[in-house]
Amino acid sequence: MQIKADVGKCQGYGNCVDLDPEHFDLDDDGLVVLLRTSVGDTERETSGAAVRSCPVQAVWLVDDDA
Ligand code: SF4
Repeated sequence: MQIKADVGKCQGYGNCVDLDPEHFDLDDDGLVVLLRTSVGDTERETSGAAVRSCPVQAVWLVDDDA
């Protein structure tokens, strides 16, 4: 799977960073940065929880072939 982000939607709540710091960080402006976009099978649960925690749906997961 791949993580996608719409930085324009991000409000900097940081929920995603708290739940999955391997993939998400905040930049100097407090907006989401993807440290890695690929999500391995063992990471799906963690990354999925991080995506679901975003209150403005600024991040989401897509299948590799999507
Ligand atoms: S949870 Fe959503 S709004 Fe908050 S930092 Fe992450 S992407 Fe941005």
